Amino acid sequence: MSELKTVVTGGAGFIGSHLVDELLADGHQVTVIDNFSTGRPENLVHQKDNPNLSLIEADITEEETIITYFKDIDWVFHMAALADIVPSIQHPQDYFRTNVDGTFSVLEASRKAKIKRFVYAASSSSYGIPDVYPTPENASIHPEYPYALTKYLGECLALHWGRVYKLPVVSLRFFNVYGPRARTSGTYGAVFGVFLSQKVHGKPYTVVGDGTQTRDFTFVTDVANACITAAKSNLSCEVMNVGSGNTYSINHLVELMEGDITYIPKRPGEPECTYADTTKIQKLLEWKPSVSFEEGVKIMLEHINEWENAPLWTPKKIENATKDWFKYLSK
Ligand code: UDP
Repeated sequence: MSELKTVVTGGAGFIGSHLVDELLADGHQVTVIDNFSTGRPENLVHQKDNPNLSLIEADITEEETIITYFKDIDWVFHMAALADIVPSIQHPQDYFRTNVDGTFSVLEASRKAKIKRFVYAASSSSYGIPDVYPTPENASIHPEYPYALTKYLGECLALHWGRVYKLPVVSLRFFNVYGPRARTSGTYGAVFGVFLSQKVHGKPYTVVGDGTQTRDFTFVTDVANACITAAKSNLSCEVMNVGSGNTYSINHLVELMEGDITYIPKRPGEPECTYADTTKIQKLLEWKPSVSFEEGVKIMLEHINEWENAPLWTPKKIENATKDWFKYLSK
């Protein structure tokens, strides 16, 4: 495929930066739009001399500012968003503004620039506590907290722009993405960041419940590859799950990572299992993940020094950080 012009919103973030790496490796031109609120320039520092990369500090909600960068663009990957559960409960307006208004603004810029493919980073959290496993795309939608709701509203907008304005939109629902550069600072977040910091500091892993709950842990380079495969396709208005093809218990993760355990209470609104039905993406895009869970965990352990300066989460700190989670989501 010849060289294309691409925009990656949130390209300095965890998933976005891996996508940028893969686009650049394929010889494409990439304009990253990031406001560095949670994205970090370090995530792209290894590309700083790459002439095909432009790094723009801008806020996606400002359409007049960002539209300048959409001229002659072929593919737009909309990865910019605020993540994490607790802050979304505490500051729903920020989440609405970035994840919903921000998506609106990126869609409008894309529509006006007549881009050729729009890939939206959607979330498996839209399914809430699913009643079908593996969970297909037509399962019912039950967002449990504002992060999940705002990501789902963004998906609704994207698909609506696809139907009404014929913008070629593909929405990919990511399941538990992990990999190097997963957030290492800030709020209490995804399990790998929590456990790797505990390991590097020689502290026990804070296992939620009895650790038998399972997650469809999907390696970040597989997710980046799914985004590019979707961009190359001729699909429009399709929603597809992106998952690893399996589901793994927290106990198994701890076995692979080795170390002591301390148990912390189960959190309200959390599914016992996440597990994507990936039949659709296999069929429509012939996409399959290529990094096994065991390989992925090994890669994470090889990158453990990334978590040396990350916050260390103890049971007490987690209890304090998750107070609002228990307060608002307990039935
Ligand atoms: N988890 C855990 N200890 C922690 C944080 C998370 O055992 O300190 C578990 C949690 O119960 C869940 C899994 O790890 O089963 C993934 O949690 P994460 O918050 O990363 O993702 P989500 O629950 O949103 O799928």
